[in-house]
Amino acid sequence: MPEASRGQGLRVPAGLGGRGARARPGSRLERGRGSGLGPGRRGGAEEREEMDGGAGTISARGGGSRPGGPASPAAPAPRIRGCGGNYRWNYRWSIRAEAGSTAGAAGSTAPRWSIRGRSGNCRSRGPRRPVGRSMESPAVTFTLAYLVFAVCFVFPPDEVRSAGLTVQSLLSAWLGSEDAAFVQYHLRRSTGTLLAHSLLPLGYYLGMCFAAPEKHLCFFYLASKEWKTFFFFAVLLPAITSALAYYWSRKGWNNHPLARTLAVHALPQSGWRAVASSINTEFRRIDKFATGAPGARVIVTDTWVIKVTTYCLHVAQQQDIHLTVTDSRQHELTPDSNVPVQFLTIRVASVNPYVKAFDIRLNSTEYGELREKLRAPISNAANVVIHQSLSDLFLETFTSLVEINQTYHVPSTQELEPCIGCMQTIANIKLIKNCQEPNEGECQQCYCRPMWCLTCMGKWFASRQDQQHPETWLSSQVPCPTCRAKFCILDVCLIR
Ligand SMILES: [Zn+2]
Ligand SMILES: [Zn+2]
Ligand SMILES: [Zn+2]
Repeated sequence: MPEASRGQGLRVPAGLGGRGARARPGSRLERGRGSGLGPGRRGGAEEREEMDGGAGTISARGGGSRPGGPASPAAPAPRIRGCGGNYRWNYRWSIRAEAGSTAGAAGSTAPRWSIRGRSGNCRSRGPRRPVGRSMESPAVTFTLAYLVFAVCFVFPPDEVRSAGLTVQSLLSAWLGSEDAAFVQYHLRRSTGTLLAHSLLPLGYYLGMCFAAPEKHLCFFYLASKEWKTFFFFAVLLPAITSALAYYWSRKGWNNHPLARTLAVHALPQSGWRAVASSINTEFRRIDKFATGAPGARVIVTDTWVIKVTTYCLHVAQQQDIHLTVTDSRQHELTPDSNVPVQFLTIRVASVNPYVKAFDIRLNSTEYGELREKLRAPISNAANVVIHQSLSDLFLETFTSLVEINQTYHVPSTQELEPCIGCMQTIANIKLIKNCQEPNEGECQQCYCRPMWCLTCMGKWFASRQDQQHPETWLSSQVPCPTCRAKFCILDVCLIR
């Protein structure tokens, strides 16, 4: 409110006594009479006088603490002092002044009066909001809220997931444990998910019964044609999915599409259950590769490549597949880190004609781990430049730098043993101080016999670095994993 009207608001009640009901607050008088508190108990003039007195105090004292003291007919001034500075407050408050002068006798309380005052204010300014709109808004609000709920239920974000509002957590008792029986868990999960999602339209209809009672949705025959059609489909959908779920679950889930998917991989004399138990066993192993968002998980075990989606499961056997990097996408910002993240799309195609090709997506930093787990090579058809993880990149640099260092010739009497880090490659690294003169610098001479391979030594070197400052890695010294003598990259010698 502009200053002028604010001032006016303060002054008007003072002029009221003289000018009668001309000014806005004049309506108070009518209300005062209309509410049956008027002439019978008090004279109109007396009332006016009291109000004048009150108003006079307002303009004299201005703003102070908040209004809201108990209404008392004898002392309007203390309440007036409680008036806030702005116009609206003033106006409301002037009604309170009246309340003070008249309502006290009627035993009414101040808050009720202030509410009446406000509604009077509305009426005097303009017409009320159309009735239809105020009845429509709960329906619109409910529709929007339900839409958000449905989207969050079907594609749960992390927050919803952690709050446990997913089909998996709601049905967890029925689903059992994924680790104990992976295939059985997903047979139930996909069926339960389909059923739960098919109930969403019906939930909307039932919610609308309460959100929009004027549509008479509770009484089906009174509802409009569109709503009748909607209700028909809302009931039909879960009916179909329930029938489907019942059919799938017959004969120990023999009819479920997942059982058919697995049956493709079964040996001639065995059924899908043999494949399922193989997958269950391998899924329990700790060395499986698993990644991806819950809606598109990728699991690679020793024999199987599995992609888990909301409604189904893709399964391929490792020995049958070709993998091709088909696409890469760079995301500049992710919630977890501030470095750009590259996502790779890899097409998994099987030589088995019954296995449909599918795409898996993963972070490029997990690419090295996936390649380790897969027996088949991954071809890069799109010539995608793959951004590897920092340690993979470092390992490449470490290897290339060590290869240009001096080499070490083992005495012919000494036999080399497998690397004690990986037990797979023959040890091929000897640490010899080459960087500086024997008594200079931080590096020390290591007297250990060759015990490590190049990859394990590179991983050891990377593991001892400050992960926040990769620029210091190549120039730093780390202790020998066996004797703790310090060495740098220049001191790492390959054995010829
Ligand atoms: Zn090794
Ligand atoms: Zn050593
Ligand atoms: Zn050194």
